[in-house]
Amino acid sequence: LIESLSDLDKLAVLGHGNGGTVYKVRHRNSSAVFALKVLCFDCDTIAIRHQATREAEILKRVNSPHVVRCHGVFDGQSGDLCFATEYMDAGSLHDLLRIRRILPERVIAGVARRVLEGLKYLHGMRIVHRDLKPSNLLVNGLGEVKIADFGVSRVVAGDTCGGGGGCCDSYVGTCAYMSPERFDPDTCGGRYDGFAGDVWSLGVVLLECHVGRYPLISAGQRADWATLMCAICFGGPPEVPETASEEFESFIRRCLEKDWRRRATVQELLSHPFVARGHSSAQGLLDNA
Ligand code: ATP
Ligand code: MG
Repeated sequence: LIESLSDLDKLAVLGHGNGGTVYKVRHRNSSAVFALKVLCFDCDTIAIRHQATREAEILKRVNSPHVVRCHGVFDGQSGDLCFATEYMDAGSLHDLLRIRRILPERVIAGVARRVLEGLKYLHGMRIVHRDLKPSNLLVNGLGEVKIADFGVSRVVAGDTCGGGGGCCDSYVGTCAYMSPERFDPDTCGGRYDGFAGDVWSLGVVLLECHVGRYPLISAGQRADWATLMCAICFGGPPEVPETASEEFESFIRRCLEKDWRRRATVQELLSHPFVARGHSSAQGLLDNA
C-alpha cells in the first residue's frame, strides 16, 4: 500500500503525454515498482482538477486483469495530481508498433480479445473510456495488454466534440481515434451513451495494427484536426486491405460502422469469429520486439 508520494523514489521518465509526465518509481519500503503519472494543472484548469479528483476515486475501485490498476491518487507539488499505477514494463502498443510496424492477425486477435474484455468490465461499471488509442494500451512482459488512462485523460483534455478548443486543439492525436458521433454537436449533449465510441476507437487501433500506420487518412495527408474530422465523419467505409482475412475485415467493419446505433456492441464482438480464434494472452506481441 502506498501511503504518500514521499514513499516513492523516481527512477526514470517513461514518457510524456497530454498534460503530464509518467515516471517509473520504486516504493521505498516494499521495493515494488510502479508508474507515476503526474498531471499539471494551471489556474485555468483548477476547476477540472476537482473533477479529476472525483474521477480518481472511481479509478481506485476498478479491479480487472484487463485494466491497468490504480494504486493511489496523491496531491503533488503546486496543484499537480499524481496517479500511482501498475507498471507495464513492455511499454505501450504505440511503442511496439513503432518497432514492429504491423502485427500478424493472430496477435491482433489476441489484443482485440483482451481490450474487449477490459471494455466489457469498464462498461459494466458504467465507465466510458473515451480515449482508446495505441498509447493507452499498455503491455507487460507476459505479453498481456491492458487498458490505461480512462477517465483521467478525458477530464484533463476536456470532453469537447467540436473544433472549438479542448483536446483536439492541443493534441491532434486525441481526435484521430474519436468516433463520428463525438464530432456531431447533436450527439454531444449526452444523448448518445458513449459506449459505442469506445468500440469505434478499438476498430481504428486494430486496423492500424494491420495496415502499419494510422488508417483513416492516406499516407501523405497532414493529420490536422479538419482533415481527421472530415475523414472520420464524411469518409467512405474503412479501406481494409486485401491482405486481411474475411473474418478480420468483417470484424473491423462492425467496429467502424458510422452510425453508432448500428455499430457492434462489445458483447457481440466478443463472440465474433475473429476474436473467438484469438489467444487469450497476446503471446506473440513481444516476438522480435
Ligand atoms: P494521453 O495523455 O492522452 O494519455 P499518452 O498516452 O501518449 O497520451 P501518457 O498517458 O502520459 O501519454 O503516457 C506517456 C507514455 O508513458 C506512454 O506512451 C507509455 O509509453 C508510458 N506509460 C504510461 N503509463 C505507463 C505505465 N503504467 N507503465 C509503463 N509505461 C507507461
Ligand atoms: Mg496515456
